[in-house]
Amino acid sequence: MSRFWSPLAASLVPYVPGEQPKDKKYIKLNTNENPYPPSPKVLEAIKAAADDDLRLYPDPTCDTLVRKLADYFDLSKDQVFVGNGSDEVLSFAFAAFFDPAKPVLFADITYSFYKVYAEFYGLKADLIPLDEQFRMPLGLFNGRENGGIVIPNPNAPTAMLVPLDEFRMILEHNKDQVVIIDEAYIDFGGESAAKLVNEYPNVLVVQTLSKSRSLAGLRVGWALGSEELIDGLNRVKNSFNSYTIDRLALAGAVAAIEDEAYFVETAAKVNATRDSVIKELREIGFIVTESKANFVFISHPDVSAETIFVQLREQGVLVRYFKQPRIDKYLRVSIGTDEEMDVFLEAVKKIVSK
Ligand code: PMP
Repeated sequence: MSRFWSPLAASLVPYVPGEQPKDKKYIKLNTNENPYPPSPKVLEAIKAAADDDLRLYPDPTCDTLVRKLADYFDLSKDQVFVGNGSDEVLSFAFAAFFDPAKPVLFADITYSFYKVYAEFYGLKADLIPLDEQFRMPLGLFNGRENGGIVIPNPNAPTAMLVPLDEFRMILEHNKDQVVIIDEAYIDFGGESAAKLVNEYPNVLVVQTLSKSRSLAGLRVGWALGSEELIDGLNRVKNSFNSYTIDRLALAGAVAAIEDEAYFVETAAKVNATRDSVIKELREIGFIVTESKANFVFISHPDVSAETIFVQLREQGVLVRYFKQPRIDKYLRVSIGTDEEMDVFLEAVKKIVSK
């Protein structure tokens, strides 16, 4: 606490990201990064952009990237917004669309940044409890007063996917509110709601280059929605910072979208590793949710999650442990390369067989 802080700054409970330690080399399975490097074409494009003219501001409309994404998703450029990582896009969306007079709805177990944004913007939150198996109870989002809804698909940290068609009901029942579908992990086995954008003016689909395109370090995300929603996001953005995406990120992002073959191949490798890791974890007694993401959510009946977390860390393997009601028996483990996951599995086998 400082006497220099505004009441707003003093009231905040900021999001705590997974650690990025520098003390030694870890196998990092704690922040859902992609274990494979980005497409070599991305690096070429960034180098070329660096040789271009960094004296100049970037294009505030991000026109080249917006058009590239519009083509990719078969939408018009007025249906696409880009931002500095999907975290920024989500925060702008909370500011642009959610009504402080009514609560915003999200699951009790979900991406913890939603709560932080809600508090930042003075929004009340009404938490929808996941069922005992961590399934998203979609029916509970209907007929409940709200000033907006946000649902990640797949959910984090549970990794579980809701089939696309089930979102139609929520969109129909909440026609006067914006429903954000956060698709940070959709490319690892889900079907995107991008195809609902022309049907429902109240859906905002948010995606990122951080996971499936291996570019968490570049900070590029986007939203797809009706023209009026995209207009709302641009109003908010241009009231904060017109240049949220720098020249290097713009160039790299365009190249990443263009190199579809590379992305399809790396996502398939991650998915194959995930499916075999799930099998092996179940064989040694772990409960593992049905994952369609680049991470798994696991619990062991005999050894506490905290013990596994601590012992893995001692052996140089970092995973994520959330000391929170309902999920404190679980660990979230990002999918690394086959070699990294072999080290993880060996270590975890020893821990649970002691
Ligand atoms: N949504 C979810 C559900 C996430 O897990 C993350 C990653 N922490 C994000 C959004 C934000 O990703 P980024 O800002 O890197 O695009």
